[in-house]
Amino acid sequence: MAGLKYQAPRGTFDVLPAHARTRGRIAETAAAIFARAGYEPIATPSFEDTELFERGVGHSTDIVRKEMFTFEDKGGRSLTLRPEGTAPICRAYVEHGMHKLAQPVKLSYTGPFFRHERPQAGRYRQFHQLGIEAIGSDAPLADAEAIGLFAELVAELGIPGVELRLGSLGSLSARQTYLEELKAYLRAHEEELSKEVRERIDVNPLRAFDSDDEGTRAAMASAPTLVERLEGEDAEHFGEVRALLDAAGIEYTIDPTLVRGLDYYTRTIFSFVCDRLGAQSEIGGGGRYDGLVEQLGGPPTPAIGWAAGIERILLALEEEVATEGRDVFVVTGSQGIGKAQNALAITLVNELRRAGLSAEFDLAGRGLKGQLKHADRIGARRVLILEAEGVAQLRDMESGEQRPVDTAHLVAEIAGDRS
Ligand code: AMP
Repeated sequence: MAGLKYQAPRGTFDVLPAHARTRGRIAETAAAIFARAGYEPIATPSFEDTELFERGVGHSTDIVRKEMFTFEDKGGRSLTLRPEGTAPICRAYVEHGMHKLAQPVKLSYTGPFFRHERPQAGRYRQFHQLGIEAIGSDAPLADAEAIGLFAELVAELGIPGVELRLGSLGSLSARQTYLEELKAYLRAHEEELSKEVRERIDVNPLRAFDSDDEGTRAAMASAPTLVERLEGEDAEHFGEVRALLDAAGIEYTIDPTLVRGLDYYTRTIFSFVCDRLGAQSEIGGGGRYDGLVEQLGGPPTPAIGWAAGIERILLALEEEVATEGRDVFVVTGSQGIGKAQNALAITLVNELRRAGLSAEFDLAGRGLKGQLKHADRIGARRVLILEAEGVAQLRDMESGEQRPVDTAHLVAEIAGDRS
């Protein structure tokens, strides 16, 4: 077998049990928060027609230009592993006629997503998001609720060092006027910009705000921003969102240079960043996408949503992964009652488990000493040593105390222990 090595593909990882537990806690916490607010779970397929993302996410975005895992199926159709969740959910909204339901339709989701990015800490090619969408409301209250639910998740999970940045991109038409102004500004400063930004002035000028290049950053420091140019209903909407966040006691900073890597955003955008993370400091973000449903063939439908990266949350939590421990470890095989002992052991373990206790026994043929060591290793709080039919010693692993118990009343004995 020398030389034959299989590893998870570049940029992907195995979720091992220790992390799976923390992931479970994150998912459960989020699910409870979403359920209390009436966001119902939805799940869409892991791949979609490529065109959905081209139209939905936008031809000019990095995601569509460089990062999609696109393949042809055997019938020659172009499919793409989903790089994000909003376009598929809007597709489902239109496909299932959800505009006929009471609006807004409030949905939540979680699952794997795929982007062919350069792997680094916090950036993978298969990663996991959880998120919500409220489709069919343009009320500032919907924005404040969505942002509030993210803040709630941060608080309940106890993610340290998190800051909320807020911006607004205005409506699509207001944005067009602003984009012309921005393009003119970029052209006037062309020699200060990086090659990449220069080449994309016409395609995606907003991304200039996102550049890592020093010259570009300096030039962008005095560029006109959308937040300064907001007018009429856009300005009013943003003002109301801010007032509602203030009323709800949610702290934020206005970031006039905030942009997001997807084309569909309109009006409110936001980003939750964590100072415990390195270059990939965003744990999640989102915003309004008032034009997307219509663009995908549905009626004009305003909407808002966000997604959080589960791996980023894990990195930010840096949680000490404590083992769960076990309530009881039942010693098997090594005592004097032979085969009957294993029959008794499996009966008792099943009984304990049905009563809601965690219980295990030895499956590796260890001797008594080995089993006690193993019980200790898995964090067993008690060990049951069967001596004869119906008679056993229950050892408390912390104090080392041992007492005889009647196996017919084991569950009651242990329940008595706990009270
Ligand atoms: P986006 O869908 O681009 O708005 O990203 C939302 C969140 O998903 C980000 O804030 C990250 O937490 C997470 N995320 C996006 N891309 C990746 C990636 N390649 N690896 C890990 N997490 C990611």
